[in-house]
Parts: sequence; C-alpha cells; structure tokens
Amino acid sequence: MHYFDHAATTPVLPAAADAAYRVMTKDFGNPASLHALGREAAKEVETNRASVAKALGCQAGELYFTSCGTEGDNWAVRLGAHLGRHRGKHIITTAVEHAAVLEPCRYLEQQGYSVTYLLPDHTGRVSAEAVEDALREDTVLVSMMLVNNETGAVQPVAEVSRLLKRKKSAALLHTDAVQGFLKLDFTPRSLGVDMLTLSAHKIGGMKGSGALYIRSGLRAEPLLRGGGQEKGLRSGTEATPQIAAFAAAAGYGAEHRAEHMAYLEDLKAYTLETLESKVPGLVIVSRGDAPHICAVSLPGRPSQVVVRYLSDKGFCLSAGSACHRGKASHVYGAMKLSKAVRDGMLRLSFGPSNTKEEIDALAEAMLAATKELVAAGR
Ligand code: PLP
Repeated sequence: MHYFDHAATTPVLPAAADAAYRVMTKDFGNPASLHALGREAAKEVETNRASVAKALGCQAGELYFTSCGTEGDNWAVRLGAHLGRHRGKHIITTAVEHAAVLEPCRYLEQQGYSVTYLLPDHTGRVSAEAVEDALREDTVLVSMMLVNNETGAVQPVAEVSRLLKRKKSAALLHTDAVQGFLKLDFTPRSLGVDMLTLSAHKIGGMKGSGALYIRSGLRAEPLLRGGGQEKGLRSGTEATPQIAAFAAAAGYGAEHRAEHMAYLEDLKAYTLETLESKVPGLVIVSRGDAPHICAVSLPGRPSQVVVRYLSDKGFCLSAGSACHRGKASHVYGAMKLSKAVRDGMLRLSFGPSNTKEEIDALAEAMLAATKELVAAGR
C-alpha cells in the first residue's frame, strides 16, 4: 500500500505506540489519584506537556491538552468571542479554514455575531491586506490557519499579527496550526498569536488527542467544567496514553524536523515534475508552500472515481479533505477554479516514509487511470 494521505492522518510512530502501550498497561494510574500510581501519572502528564511545549517552542504552562484539533479550534473561537464580548461582535476568518473553525463561526453568527470570511486567490492564499481591509473597531478575533490542509498554502499569520499591533487592534489572533506543526519553522511567539491549535494524529501521535496553546496572560474561560483538570479550564480525566504518544511523536518530529522538511520538499518537487511530465492533461493547482501537501487535478475525470481506481491499485490519496466525505470542497470552491478542474481535484500529502519509487509507480497508475476511465466513458 502506498500512502499519500498524511494530511488526513499519519501512522502512529513506533515510539509513540510504545509510550501509549506502557501507559495503558503499566503506568495506567489516574493523575487525580493520591496513591503512587496516580502521582506517577500526574508527573508523567507534566513531563509530556513539557515535551510538546518544547517541540512547539512555548512554555509548558501555555499548553492545554484537548481531545483533538477540532476541540482546540472550537475552544479558541469560543474564547475569542467570550473575551471580546464587551468590545464587539465581529470576527475575521478565511473561507478556507477547516470546518472546525468555520462551524463555530457560523454558530456565533446565529448568536448575533458578524463574521467576515476572507476569500483566497487562485493559489489558496489569503493576504494580510484583506485582513486590514476587513478589520473594524469591534473586531474581537482573527482566526487564520497556518497551513491549509487541501492546498498546502501557508497563510501570512505573522504579518497579520504585526498588522494588528500596528493598528492597535485589541482583537485576539488564533491560528489553526494542525497542518503546520513540525512542517514549518515557527513558534507561537514568532507568529505573534494568542492561541494556536495542534492535533496529535497529524504528526505520528494517536487520534483523539491534541492541544491548544493559550498565551500566558490571557484570562481563559473553561471549556469543560468538572474535576478541574488542565488548571480548571478543560476538565476530564487526562487521556494519559494519547498524551504520552503525543509527546513521543512531538519529540521525535522536533528532533528530525529540518531533515524531514528538506526531504518532503524534495519529494514534492519530484512528484509535481513527474506527474506533470508523465500524465497528460494533469494540472498543478497548488504546489503548496508547506513541504508535505500539494494539489493537482485531472480535469474532466471525477476525483472520487479516480481515488477509488487508484485505491484498487494500492494507492491512498484524497479527493480533498478527508472530512468532506464526498461533499464538494469549500476550499477549492473559494479558489474559483473552473468546474472541470474542481471536479478532478486530487490532494497528495506526504510523510518521511514515502519514496521517489512510489511516486514513479503513482504516475504510472494515474496515467493508466486517465486511459481506462476515458475508455470506460467516465
Ligand atoms: N484543522 C485542520 C487544518 C485539519 O487538517 C484538521 C484535520 O483534518 C483539523 C483541524 C481537525 O483535527 P482533528 O482531526 O484532530 O479534529
């Protein structure tokens, strides 16, 4: 099986699986328990928090474990609205955010907020100038993702932060860095954000695990009320195996980040060059600024048919975001691509285990797909 869908999820790294297994079977205490096993578990959660914080480049106390990236995004949008509630009800985001940001924004619209959804250009990028134009006195939150999951476009988050400072805006800045973590060189401080979302299963950790960075000094509102875990902000018994796996994956990814980035960048360039030369009619829609994601199209050949065809030949790739489950992508829609290009969109996302030999095989399979699907009249 050739896996080119790392933006959807990644295989769990052996070190992460080992860490989770140990915590599930041996060090399984509840961090709230007073006995030795509980105290050990509590200590380990903090050690793991420090490891993820080190990989991200923030203080451990600024990181709150969550159940997934979606939870972090929902929390951040809600927090932005809550903390700004006495100043206004305007939010700026982009039309290409993940649904985990868009849906909470739509919910807030139903509660009387006004939300500006900035449109990208044809490459999927949104400009800082568009944020400047949309900024108002009553803007309380700007939520702009760091790396788009369907195009690999990098958004100008640091530039937006500088803009907010220059304009003396009190709006908080959130970034969904789920696809950017360990793929780009940044810290929350270098981006100048107040909140930042992570998800563990995109970096070799387990599904059902993530974190929200909340800048120290920001008076956060609890997301879940209960037993008081995560400094009272996100109650619920800590998912100790997932957290252990997250820390192991983050540590490994941080250690190898530069090497992985260079490898993925080279592999992506090779992929685009190979597919463009070997598959007639293929259009490169996004070369992706991030090293691991790009998007191409076979205009006129429905991507879901192509994805199924390639899957039967042993290739896993995506017709867009896995979260769409067959629905048309709002990201490719916002990029104003022609219908034929949009219908034929394929997203490729790579991991360090992918090779150029696999890319050669993919190009052959895609070429065969174009011939056979035409022959079948599809
Ligand atoms: N944000 C982005 C950019 C994503 O790509 C994803 C997952 O695809 C999420 C948020 C949601 O993360 P999770 O699957 O952990 O809920």
